[in-house]
Amino acid sequence: MGVDWYACSKCNDAYCDAGDYVSCECGESWCSDECAEEDKFQNEEDGFTPIGSEWSQDTSCKYCRKEDFDSETLLEFLLKELKMSRKELIKQYKESE
Ligand SMILES: [Zn+2]
Ligand SMILES: [Zn+2]
Repeated sequence: MGVDWYACSKCNDAYCDAGDYVSCECGESWCSDECAEEDKFQNEEDGFTPIGSEWSQDTSCKYCRKEDFDSETLLEFLLKELKMSRKELIKQYKESE
C-alpha cells in the first residue's frame, strides 16, 4: 500500500492523500483550506449542478462554477482565436524578451 500524490490546484504544491486536503466533487483538489478558499471552494447545501452535468454536487469551486479555467485551457482558446500555433507564440515571446 502506498500513498498517492497530487498537485494542489491553487499553489501546485504536492500533497499526499494520507494527509489533510480538500477536494471538490468536480475533481479539483487543494493542499489546504486556505488554497481551497482562494479558489472559492464551498459546500453547497442545496446541491450544485454544473453546466452539462446531470448530477448535482455537494461542493463547488470556481472551476466547476465556470468562474475560472486553468491556464492551459485559456491558452488553447487564445491560440485558436489568434489563429496562432504554440510555436509561433514561443517565437514571439522570445522576441519580446
Ligand atoms: Zn495549495
Ligand atoms: Zn469544483
